[in-house]
This record gives sequence, C-alpha cells and structure tokens, in this order.
Amino acid sequence: MATDENQALESDVKEKCWDQREALPGEPVCAVCGRYGEYICDETDDDICSLECKTTLLIRLAKSQTSSAQPPSVKLPARDECYYVRDGNNKTELQILTNTRTEQLRAKLEISVQGDNVPEPVLSFGSCNLPQKLLQNLEAAGYEMPTPVQMQAIPSALIGRSMLVSAETGSGKTCSFLVPVVDYCTKFKNNPQTPLAMVLAPTRELCIQVEEQAKLLGKGLPFKTALVVGGDAMAGQVHRIKQGVSMIVGTPGRLIDLLTKHDFEMDTIKILVLDEVDCMIQRGFREQVMQIFQALSQPQVLMYSATVSKEVEKVAGSMAKDLTIVSVGRPNKPSGAVRQLAIWVESNKKKQKLFDILTSKQHFKPPVVVFVGSRIGADLLSEAITMKTGVRALSIHGEKKMKERRDVVRSFLVGEVSVIVATGVLGRGVDLLSVRQVIVFDMPNSTKEYVHMIGRASRMGEDGAAIVFVNEENKKIFPELVDILESSGAAIPRELANSRRAVNSFSVGRAQKKRKHGY
Ligand code: ADP
Ligand code: MG
Repeated sequence: MATDENQALESDVKEKCWDQREALPGEPVCAVCGRYGEYICDETDDDICSLECKTTLLIRLAKSQTSSAQPPSVKLPARDECYYVRDGNNKTELQILTNTRTEQLRAKLEISVQGDNVPEPVLSFGSCNLPQKLLQNLEAAGYEMPTPVQMQAIPSALIGRSMLVSAETGSGKTCSFLVPVVDYCTKFKNNPQTPLAMVLAPTRELCIQVEEQAKLLGKGLPFKTALVVGGDAMAGQVHRIKQGVSMIVGTPGRLIDLLTKHDFEMDTIKILVLDEVDCMIQRGFREQVMQIFQALSQPQVLMYSATVSKEVEKVAGSMAKDLTIVSVGRPNKPSGAVRQLAIWVESNKKKQKLFDILTSKQHFKPPVVVFVGSRIGADLLSEAITMKTGVRALSIHGEKKMKERRDVVRSFLVGEVSVIVATGVLGRGVDLLSVRQVIVFDMPNSTKEYVHMIGRASRMGEDGAAIVFVNEENKKIFPELVDILESSGAAIPRELANSRRAVNSFSVGRAQKKRKHGY
C-alpha cells in the first residue's frame, strides 16, 4: 500500500474505545463494547472498535482458554503487528504505529518500563475488564481514576506478568496489586475454596492495612481473606483458612510457623505479592521469603517498593521469568510532596529540641509520628513527651502485644493522642491517614528507611513535612543524605555540609556540574 495512503489510514485508527462512535443500524458492532466495529481482529475475526477493545478481546480469549487456575498469559499484539481496517467489504492491511503515543503517555506520567510487550497504561479502571462489583467498590472508595503506578501496573498484572514495581511512597501501590488479585480470585474461584493469592509484608501493621483494603475492594464478591501475623492466636487463623479463603496476607515468620505446623495446600497459590520487596529480601526475611516461594508452584510474582536497588532487581529476576520492571517518578527518592527540614542537633540536645517543637504553635502540626531507633527509646520518649509537654503521646514497637499495637494506632487515628513514637514498625507502607508531619528523632542507618519514614507524611501527593535530626553519629549516611536533601531542594545544615564526608561528596558533585556547564 502506498505510504501516503497508509498514513492517512493510520491516523483514522481509534486507539481507545471512547474514541469510537456508536454503531448505526445495520453496521457491525464491536464484540467487546458494542460501538461501531470498524476493524476486524485478525486473530479471532471479530469486529472491534479500537486497539483497546482488541487487547481486551485477546485477554478474554486467553482467559477462557485457560483450563486450570493459571494466571492468564496472553501474547499481546506486538506494536508492529498488522491489523485490518474495514474498507467497504475488503480487509485492508494497515500498520498501526501506536508506539509513539504510548511512549508519550508514559513520559507524561513519568513511567518507565523494561520487558517485552508491556501493555500500555490504562487511563481508567473501567477499561480493565474488571468485575462490575469491583468497579463499584473502587468508586465507593473514592478512587475516581487510577494513579500513574496503577495505570501501568494493573494492566500488566492482569495479563499474568511478574513485575518489579517502584513508585514513591503514598502513590497507591497497594491498590495496584490488590485489583489484579481480587480480579483473579473472583474469576478463578475454586471449589472447595483454597487460597489463590498470598501477600507478604514486613510488619503486622502493614498486613492489617493491606487486608483491610482488600476487604474493601472485594466487598460483595466471592473473595475472602485471612490475616496471618504474629501476636494473634494461630488457632483462629488456621480455622479461617480451613473455612476457605481466596487470599492470605501475612508476615513471613508467622506464615512459615503456620505452614510447618499445619498441612495446607499451597500449590493453588498463583499470585505471590511481596510488598516492600527490598525489605523482604534483606537478611532476616530473605530465607523465610524464599522458603515460602519455593513451596509454591511458580506463581506470578508481584513485587513493590518505593526503594529498589540493582540487588533487588537481581533477586526479582531470579524469582520470575520474563520479569517486567516498572518504575514511576524519581526512583529511590522521597515523595516530592514532603518538605524536609534537616536540623543539626547533638544527641544530648535532641529531647529538648523535640519538646520545643511539640510546644511551638508554629512548628507542631499534629498528628505527628516521631521515629526512634529502639523499643525502649520509644517507651521512654513517649512518657517524657507527655510529662514535659502535656501533649498525649503513645509508643508503638515490635515488643508490644498485637492488641496493644492495634489500640495505639486506633487512638492515634481517631485523634485521642496527637503524637505516636514509633520504631521502624510504622516506617514501611502504613498509611497514617491524617498525618502530615513526621519527626525523625533517630536517623535510621539507611537512607532507604529514611525515605520510607518521611513518606508517612504524605499520601497521594498531598503536602507533608518532615523534621529530621542529624548529627555526627549519622556520618555513615551523610553522602546519601546530602544527595537526597539536595535533590529535593531542601537546605543542608551547615555542620552537615562542613562534615568531611559530605564535603567530599559535595565538591565532586559541584566540580562535575561546573565542568558540564563549561564554567
Ligand atoms: P503506597 O503503597 O504507594 O505507599 P498506598 O497504597 O498506601 O500507597 O496508598 C496511599 C493512599 O492513596 C491510600 O490512602 C489509598 O487509599 C489512596 N489511594 C490509592 N489509590 C487511589 C486512587 N486511585 N484514587 C484515590 N486514592 C487512592
Ligand atoms: Mg505500600
């Protein structure tokens, strides 16, 4: 076909379903949405209205051909594949080049992808062929449209891809794995009901939250969940699983405990989610996670975090064939919505500085999370805050009983206490609704944990603030911290800038910039 003609036709091909008009009487209708079936899907010979519906059609086809409860895996049409456009009664070959548009969309959403035939981002939940009830639940939760990470991760997960996804804290990663999980579990519900999906997360608090969100999305659907975390009686958890659940959410330690003491069929699990994956493959968790992974029969693996390193990519690659890597926004950087204020405070002055902040009308923005490095430190500091400032504070850490931890979080969330002093148990993933201020009292040993901690001050890009105490004791992380503060546009305390290590990293950076700009 002549190039000019090709170009003319290409510009006519509708990419999205809503670009297509309604069918007139007697005209062919799209097999998926019922609009004007302007094209013919060359794989099925069905009439279709757009590229979007063609993809949906192929996914449906693949799913209906899946006899066992395997996650559907479909070869998406390659971008340079031939489509046919209806031209009177003849099929006319047409090359559709949507690459550029997809790339433009990804660039706009700051999405980058690695992997073969990664589906294009969706702009609405409605175009994902989800159960009607799930769509209603999303709407009821106030999720009008997907966030960028959801736009890319949901369609990829829905077609059975294993993924490593990084996106900043508070960007909606939970829903981006729960939607495909709920979709899968409801479409492939087995009888008797055995678990089809498993979500592993590092802390009980995060597991509780993931389960709550899953219940919200699965409301009214044949989708039951079990929470398997330490601190609650195991007998109840075992009973619940035996009654039949679709999804288990748990911490690795308790899960292994449960699996070694009780005989559960695990090979029906087809989707394994590792939330906070970098944490899950660190020493301490890694062996347990691998033990669980090996007990499953090659599930689709969905891995998420705001901080993902090359090492994580390597491990992720070893767990899944044909891994798709999705990265949204600035990788490994704190949420741009959190304003950071780093203050140089000597260790023996930190308490007083904190009391000053908590008693200052200008600086205290309750509810506040104060992060400390030890369990005993959390207890002592919360008592001292209440005594010295009159501000009600409670502590939370791994040594407290589950019920107490639940009560502390509840009274904080309902506003009965204004300050919660926490160890890392609240650092990862937990969505602390109204919190807009975080105080990092003890700087963690890794800037990754720091990124997660200050991430508690913002969700969905709402403004938050983090006050961070730094001193010589944190010198191991100075170069990385300077880099984070600098790239976020935060001021760097003089003492930090003067510190020898920081000076080194600083001057190298500056020298390179100067050379680059030819100063
Ligand atoms: P992350 O795991 O990326 O840190 P979360 O999954 O905890 O973030 O989501 C942060 C907040 O955003 C939660 O309160 C969640 O309910 C909300 N949220 C997620 N997706 C959407 C959406 N599409 N529309 C509106 N709010 C959303
Ligand atoms: Mg999360």
